Amino acid sequence: MLSLEEIVSKISEQVGLDNISIQQKIEDKKAELSGLISSEGAAHLVARDLNVDILTRVTHKLEIKNIVPGMRNTEITARVFRVFAAREFERNGNKGRVSNIVLWDPTGTIRMSLWNDEIKILENLKEGDIVKVMGYSKEDNRGEPELRLGNRGKIEKVDIEFPSINNAVSEQKGGNLGELREGVTTKIRGAIVQMFESDPFYEICPQCGIRVRANDNKFFCDEHQYVAPDYSMVLSCVIDDGTMSMRAVFFRDVAQKLIGMDVQTALSLARERMNRTAPITEKAPNLLGREMLFSGRVKRNQMFDRLEFIVSDINEINPIEESDKILVAMGG
Ligand SMILES: [Zn+2]
Repeated sequence: MLSLEEIVSKISEQVGLDNISIQQKIEDKKAELSGLISSEGAAHLVARDLNVDILTRVTHKLEIKNIVPGMRNTEITARVFRVFAAREFERNGNKGRVSNIVLWDPTGTIRMSLWNDEIKILENLKEGDIVKVMGYSKEDNRGEPELRLGNRGKIEKVDIEFPSINNAVSEQKGGNLGELREGVTTKIRGAIVQMFESDPFYEICPQCGIRVRANDNKFFCDEHQYVAPDYSMVLSCVIDDGTMSMRAVFFRDVAQKLIGMDVQTALSLARERMNRTAPITEKAPNLLGREMLFSGRVKRNQMFDRLEFIVSDINEINPIEESDKILVAMGG
Protein backbone atom coordinates (compact mmCIF):
# COMPACT_ATOMS: atom_id res chain seq x y z
CA MET A 1 0.00 0.00 0.00
CA LEU A 2 1.34 3.41 -0.92
CA SER A 3 2.17 5.81 1.89
CA LEU A 4 1.15 9.44 1.82
CA GLU A 5 4.74 10.39 0.93
CA GLU A 6 4.77 7.98 -2.00
CA ILE A 7 1.50 9.32 -3.36
CA VAL A 8 2.72 12.90 -3.00
CA SER A 9 5.94 12.09 -4.80
CA LYS A 10 4.06 10.38 -7.64
CA ILE A 11 1.84 13.44 -8.04
CA SER A 12 4.90 15.66 -7.96
CA GLU A 13 6.70 13.55 -10.59
CA GLN A 14 3.80 13.37 -12.98
CA VAL A 15 2.31 16.85 -12.67
CA GLY A 16 5.32 18.87 -11.56
CA LEU A 17 3.67 20.49 -8.53
CA ASP A 18 5.77 21.14 -5.44
CA ASN A 19 5.08 19.28 -2.20
CA ILE A 20 3.56 22.26 -0.42
CA SER A 21 0.96 22.81 -3.14
CA ILE A 22 0.13 19.12 -3.13
CA GLN A 23 -0.24 19.04 0.66
CA GLN A 24 -2.54 22.06 0.39
CA LYS A 25 -4.69 20.28 -2.20
CA ILE A 26 -4.91 17.25 0.09
CA GLU A 27 -5.98 19.41 3.03
CA ASP A 28 -8.55 21.16 0.83
CA LYS A 29 -9.90 17.79 -0.27
CA LYS A 30 -10.22 16.63 3.33
CA ALA A 31 -12.04 19.82 4.24
CA GLU A 32 -14.29 19.45 1.21
CA LEU A 33 -15.25 15.99 2.42
CA SER A 34 -15.74 17.20 6.00
CA GLY A 35 -12.70 15.31 7.28
CA LEU A 36 -14.36 11.96 6.61
CA ILE A 37 -11.31 10.48 4.93
CA SER A 38 -7.70 9.93 5.80
CA SER A 39 -4.88 11.98 4.30
CA GLU A 40 -3.97 8.96 2.15
CA GLY A 41 -7.54 8.70 0.89
CA ALA A 42 -7.63 12.42 0.13
CA ALA A 43 -4.26 12.15 -1.62
CA HIS A 44 -5.69 9.43 -3.85
CA LEU A 45 -8.60 11.66 -4.78
CA VAL A 46 -6.29 14.56 -5.52
CA ALA A 47 -4.22 12.25 -7.71
CA ARG A 48 -7.35 11.16 -9.51
CA ASP A 49 -8.47 14.76 -10.02
CA LEU A 50 -5.10 15.50 -11.59
CA ASN A 51 -5.16 12.35 -13.72
CA VAL A 52 -2.13 10.98 -11.96
CA ASP A 53 -1.91 7.23 -12.32
CA ILE A 54 -0.88 5.81 -8.98
CA LEU A 55 -2.83 2.59 -8.77
CA THR A 56 -2.31 0.84 -12.02
CA ARG A 57 1.13 1.12 -13.46
CA VAL A 58 0.27 -1.62 -15.93
CA THR A 59 -2.74 -0.09 -17.56
CA HIS A 60 -1.67 2.65 -19.89
CA LYS A 61 -4.77 2.85 -21.98
CA LEU A 62 -3.14 3.36 -25.32
CA GLU A 63 -5.27 1.63 -27.93
CA ILE A 64 -4.01 0.36 -31.25
CA LYS A 65 -6.24 2.69 -33.25
CA ASN A 66 -4.52 5.66 -31.57
CA ILE A 67 -0.98 4.67 -32.47
CA VAL A 68 0.59 6.96 -35.06
CA PRO A 69 4.12 6.86 -36.50
CA GLY A 70 6.82 8.46 -34.35
CA MET A 71 5.59 7.75 -30.82
CA ARG A 72 8.53 7.22 -28.47
CA ASN A 73 6.68 5.14 -25.88
CA THR A 74 3.96 2.85 -26.99
CA GLU A 75 2.76 0.64 -24.19
CA ILE A 76 -0.21 -1.46 -25.20
CA THR A 77 -1.99 -4.56 -24.08
CA ALA A 78 -2.96 -6.75 -26.99
CA ARG A 79 -3.41 -10.24 -28.25
CA VAL A 80 -0.95 -11.87 -30.59
CA PHE A 81 -2.98 -12.16 -33.77
CA ARG A 82 -0.46 -13.57 -36.24
CA VAL A 83 3.17 -14.65 -36.04
CA PHE A 84 5.05 -14.85 -39.34
CA ALA A 85 8.10 -17.00 -39.80
CA ALA A 86 11.41 -15.14 -39.67
CA ARG A 87 13.13 -14.43 -42.94
CA GLU A 88 16.75 -13.64 -43.71
CA PHE A 89 17.94 -10.60 -45.58
CA GLU A 90 21.21 -9.07 -46.54
CA ARG A 91 21.95 -5.38 -46.32
CA ASN A 92 25.34 -3.76 -47.02
CA GLY A 93 26.93 -7.15 -46.87
CA ASN A 94 25.49 -7.95 -43.43
CA LYS A 95 23.04 -10.74 -42.89
CA GLY A 96 20.09 -10.21 -40.67
CA ARG A 97 16.75 -11.73 -39.78
CA VAL A 98 13.36 -10.12 -39.42
CA SER A 99 10.04 -11.46 -38.22
CA ASN A 100 6.68 -9.75 -38.24
CA ILE A 101 3.89 -10.24 -35.80
CA VAL A 102 0.45 -8.68 -35.83
CA LEU A 103 -1.04 -7.47 -32.57
CA TRP A 104 -4.76 -7.08 -32.00
CA ASP A 105 -6.97 -5.19 -29.60
CA PRO A 106 -10.68 -4.46 -29.97
CA THR A 107 -9.85 -1.19 -31.76
CA GLY A 108 -7.66 -2.65 -34.50
CA THR A 109 -4.47 -4.41 -35.48
CA ILE A 110 -0.88 -3.29 -35.89
CA ARG A 111 2.25 -4.89 -37.27
CA MET A 112 5.36 -5.18 -35.17
CA SER A 113 8.69 -6.13 -36.66
CA LEU A 114 11.34 -7.90 -34.65
CA TRP A 115 14.95 -7.95 -35.72
CA ASN A 116 17.80 -10.40 -35.18
CA ASP A 117 18.11 -11.28 -31.46
CA GLU A 118 14.70 -9.80 -30.74
CA ILE A 119 13.17 -12.74 -32.62
CA LYS A 120 14.00 -15.03 -29.67
CA ILE A 121 11.03 -13.51 -27.84
CA LEU A 122 8.76 -15.38 -30.22
CA GLU A 123 9.81 -18.76 -28.87
CA ASN A 124 7.53 -18.19 -25.89
CA LEU A 125 4.63 -16.64 -27.76
CA LYS A 126 1.80 -18.11 -29.71
CA GLU A 127 -1.21 -16.69 -31.49
CA GLY A 128 -3.93 -15.73 -29.03
CA ASP A 129 -1.57 -14.91 -26.14
CA ILE A 130 -2.26 -11.70 -24.24
CA VAL A 131 0.81 -9.52 -24.10
CA LYS A 132 1.96 -6.21 -22.75
CA VAL A 133 4.14 -4.60 -25.39
CA MET A 134 6.46 -1.70 -24.72
CA GLY A 135 8.16 -0.19 -27.72
CA TYR A 136 8.01 2.73 -30.10
CA SER A 137 6.32 3.39 -33.42
CA LYS A 138 7.77 4.15 -36.81
CA GLU A 139 6.32 4.84 -40.22
CA ASP A 140 6.44 1.81 -42.49
CA ASN A 141 6.94 1.95 -46.26
CA ARG A 142 3.19 2.38 -46.82
CA GLY A 143 2.98 5.34 -44.46
CA GLU A 144 1.32 3.25 -41.74
CA PRO A 145 2.55 3.00 -38.15
CA GLU A 146 4.43 -0.11 -37.18
CA LEU A 147 5.83 -1.07 -33.81
CA ARG A 148 9.46 -1.64 -32.98
CA LEU A 149 10.97 -2.97 -29.81
CA GLY A 150 14.15 -0.92 -29.46
CA ASN A 151 16.67 -1.25 -26.65
CA ARG A 152 14.23 -0.61 -23.85
CA GLY A 153 11.28 -2.43 -25.36
CA LYS A 154 9.66 -5.54 -23.96
CA ILE A 155 7.00 -8.06 -24.77
CA GLU A 156 5.56 -9.77 -21.70
CA LYS A 157 2.82 -12.33 -21.50
CA VAL A 158 0.16 -11.17 -19.04
CA ASP A 159 -2.68 -12.94 -17.33
CA ILE A 160 -5.62 -10.56 -17.41
CA GLU A 161 -9.16 -10.39 -18.70
CA PHE A 162 -8.97 -9.36 -22.35
CA PRO A 163 -11.47 -9.67 -25.19
CA SER A 164 -10.97 -12.64 -27.42
CA ILE A 165 -10.41 -12.20 -31.13
CA ASN A 166 -13.00 -14.71 -32.30
CA ASN A 167 -15.75 -13.08 -30.35
CA ALA A 168 -14.92 -9.55 -31.29
CA VAL A 169 -16.95 -9.91 -34.46
CA SER A 170 -20.08 -10.43 -32.39
CA GLU A 171 -19.73 -7.01 -30.77
CA GLN A 172 -23.20 -5.51 -30.71
CA LYS A 173 -24.82 -2.21 -29.91
CA GLY A 174 -26.73 -3.76 -27.07
CA GLY A 175 -28.32 -7.01 -26.07
CA ASN A 176 -30.71 -8.77 -23.80
CA LEU A 177 -29.40 -10.96 -21.05
CA GLY A 178 -31.92 -13.63 -22.00
CA GLU A 179 -30.41 -13.96 -25.47
CA LEU A 180 -26.76 -13.96 -24.56
CA ARG A 181 -24.49 -16.78 -25.54
CA GLU A 182 -21.05 -17.62 -24.27
CA GLY A 183 -18.33 -15.40 -25.71
CA VAL A 184 -20.54 -12.50 -26.78
CA THR A 185 -19.27 -8.99 -26.11
CA THR A 186 -22.11 -6.56 -25.55
CA LYS A 187 -23.69 -3.79 -23.51
CA ILE A 188 -26.55 -4.43 -21.12
CA ARG A 189 -28.82 -1.78 -19.70
CA GLY A 190 -29.87 -3.18 -16.39
CA ALA A 191 -29.87 -2.82 -12.63
CA ILE A 192 -28.00 -4.51 -9.84
CA VAL A 193 -30.50 -6.56 -7.88
CA GLN A 194 -28.13 -8.29 -5.48
CA MET A 195 -24.56 -7.78 -4.29
CA PHE A 196 -22.54 -10.66 -2.88
CA GLU A 197 -20.78 -9.76 0.31
CA SER A 198 -17.67 -11.84 -0.07
CA ASP A 199 -14.14 -10.61 0.63
CA PRO A 200 -13.37 -8.32 -2.32
CA PHE A 201 -9.62 -8.01 -1.80
CA TYR A 202 -6.89 -10.07 -3.38
CA GLU A 203 -3.13 -9.68 -3.56
CA ILE A 204 -1.35 -8.71 -6.77
CA CYS A 205 2.28 -8.33 -7.75
CA PRO A 206 3.22 -4.63 -7.44
CA GLN A 207 5.40 -4.93 -10.54
CA CYS A 208 3.26 -6.77 -13.06
CA GLY A 209 -0.22 -6.57 -11.54
CA ILE A 210 -0.82 -10.30 -11.78
CA ARG A 211 -2.50 -12.11 -8.93
CA VAL A 212 0.09 -13.62 -6.57
CA ARG A 213 -0.09 -16.95 -4.77
CA ALA A 214 0.07 -17.09 -1.00
CA ASN A 215 2.86 -19.30 0.23
CA ASP A 216 3.46 -19.51 4.01
CA ASN A 217 2.20 -15.96 4.58
CA LYS A 218 4.42 -14.74 1.76
CA PHE A 219 3.31 -13.84 -1.73
CA PHE A 220 4.80 -15.27 -4.85
CA CYS A 221 4.69 -13.99 -8.45
CA ASP A 222 5.91 -16.42 -11.10
CA GLU A 223 7.95 -13.69 -12.68
CA HIS A 224 9.03 -11.52 -9.76
CA GLN A 225 9.32 -14.20 -7.06
CA TYR A 226 8.51 -13.10 -3.50
CA VAL A 227 6.94 -9.67 -3.42
CA ALA A 228 5.28 -7.33 -0.95
CA PRO A 229 1.85 -7.36 -2.58
CA ASP A 230 -0.44 -4.57 -3.62
CA TYR A 231 -4.16 -5.16 -3.47
CA SER A 232 -6.86 -5.29 -6.05
CA MET A 233 -10.60 -5.87 -5.82
CA VAL A 234 -13.16 -8.17 -7.36
CA LEU A 235 -16.88 -7.75 -6.80
CA SER A 236 -19.77 -9.85 -7.92
CA CYS A 237 -23.43 -9.16 -8.07
CA VAL A 238 -26.57 -10.07 -9.94
CA ILE A 239 -27.73 -7.78 -12.72
CA ASP A 240 -31.18 -7.88 -14.22
CA ASP A 241 -32.38 -6.24 -17.42
CA GLY A 242 -36.00 -7.28 -17.27
CA THR A 243 -35.49 -10.29 -19.54
CA MET A 244 -33.28 -12.29 -17.21
CA SER A 245 -30.77 -11.97 -14.41
CA MET A 246 -27.16 -13.01 -14.54
CA ARG A 247 -24.21 -13.01 -12.21
CA ALA A 248 -21.83 -10.18 -13.09
CA VAL A 249 -18.18 -9.93 -12.05
CA PHE A 250 -16.20 -6.70 -11.73
CA PHE A 251 -12.42 -6.73 -11.52
CA ARG A 252 -9.90 -4.06 -10.60
CA ASP A 253 -10.65 -0.65 -12.16
CA VAL A 254 -14.23 -1.62 -12.86
CA ALA A 255 -14.72 -2.79 -9.27
CA GLN A 256 -13.34 0.55 -8.06
CA LYS A 257 -15.62 2.38 -10.43
CA LEU A 258 -18.63 0.37 -9.30
CA ILE A 259 -18.30 1.22 -5.63
CA GLY A 260 -16.83 4.65 -6.30
CA MET A 261 -13.83 3.93 -4.13
CA ASP A 262 -10.26 3.18 -5.03
CA VAL A 263 -8.76 0.08 -3.54
CA GLN A 264 -6.69 1.98 -0.96
CA THR A 265 -9.74 3.81 0.31
CA ALA A 266 -11.69 0.56 0.41
CA LEU A 267 -8.87 -1.12 2.35
CA SER A 268 -8.73 1.73 4.85
CA LEU A 269 -12.47 1.46 5.33
CA ALA A 270 -12.24 -2.32 5.80
CA ARG A 271 -9.47 -1.88 8.37
CA GLU A 272 -11.35 0.83 10.19
CA ARG A 273 -14.47 -1.38 10.41
CA MET A 274 -12.38 -4.52 10.98
CA ASN A 275 -14.46 -6.15 8.27
CA ARG A 276 -13.19 -6.87 4.79
CA THR A 277 -16.66 -6.68 3.26
CA ALA A 278 -17.39 -3.24 4.80
CA PRO A 279 -16.92 -1.36 1.49
CA ILE A 280 -19.59 -3.52 -0.15
CA THR A 281 -21.98 -3.28 2.79
CA GLU A 282 -21.68 0.49 2.86
CA LYS A 283 -22.00 1.08 -0.88
CA ALA A 284 -24.69 -1.50 -1.62
CA PRO A 285 -27.61 0.77 -0.68
CA ASN A 286 -26.46 3.30 -3.31
CA LEU A 287 -26.10 0.66 -5.98
CA LEU A 288 -29.01 -1.71 -5.59
CA GLY A 289 -31.76 -1.01 -8.07
CA ARG A 290 -29.89 1.72 -9.89
CA GLU A 291 -30.01 1.37 -13.63
CA MET A 292 -26.66 1.42 -15.40
CA LEU A 293 -25.07 0.47 -18.68
CA PHE A 294 -22.79 -2.56 -18.29
CA SER A 295 -20.27 -3.35 -21.04
CA GLY A 296 -18.67 -6.75 -20.96
CA ARG A 297 -18.42 -10.27 -22.15
CA VAL A 298 -20.28 -13.47 -21.39
CA LYS A 299 -17.97 -16.14 -20.06
CA ARG A 300 -18.55 -19.64 -18.78
CA ASN A 301 -17.50 -20.13 -15.19
CA GLN A 302 -16.00 -23.61 -15.45
CA MET A 303 -16.12 -24.35 -11.77
CA PHE A 304 -19.84 -23.72 -11.43
CA ASP A 305 -20.74 -24.38 -15.06
CA ARG A 306 -22.76 -21.22 -15.45
CA LEU A 307 -22.63 -18.14 -17.63
CA GLU A 308 -21.35 -14.94 -16.07
CA PHE A 309 -21.06 -11.43 -17.38
CA ILE A 310 -17.48 -10.14 -17.00
CA VAL A 311 -17.94 -6.39 -16.84
CA SER A 312 -15.31 -4.29 -18.59
CA ASP A 313 -16.95 -0.91 -18.04
CA ILE A 314 -19.92 0.65 -16.33
CA ASN A 315 -21.59 3.82 -17.45
CA GLU A 316 -24.26 5.84 -15.85
CA ILE A 317 -27.37 6.44 -17.87
CA ASN A 318 -26.91 10.14 -17.21
CA PRO A 319 -23.15 10.53 -17.10
CA ILE A 320 -22.67 14.10 -15.91
CA GLU A 321 -25.19 14.13 -13.12
CA GLU A 322 -24.16 10.68 -11.97
CA SER A 323 -20.41 11.27 -11.95
CA ASP A 324 -20.97 14.12 -9.52
CA LYS A 325 -22.86 11.72 -7.27
CA ILE A 326 -20.02 9.20 -7.41
CA LEU A 327 -17.51 11.83 -6.33
CA VAL A 328 -19.72 12.82 -3.44
CA ALA A 329 -20.24 9.16 -2.53
CA MET A 330 -16.50 8.66 -2.43
CA GLY A 331 -16.26 10.94 0.57
CA GLY A 332 -18.20 8.68 2.86
ZN1 LIG B 1 5.11 -9.95 -10.94
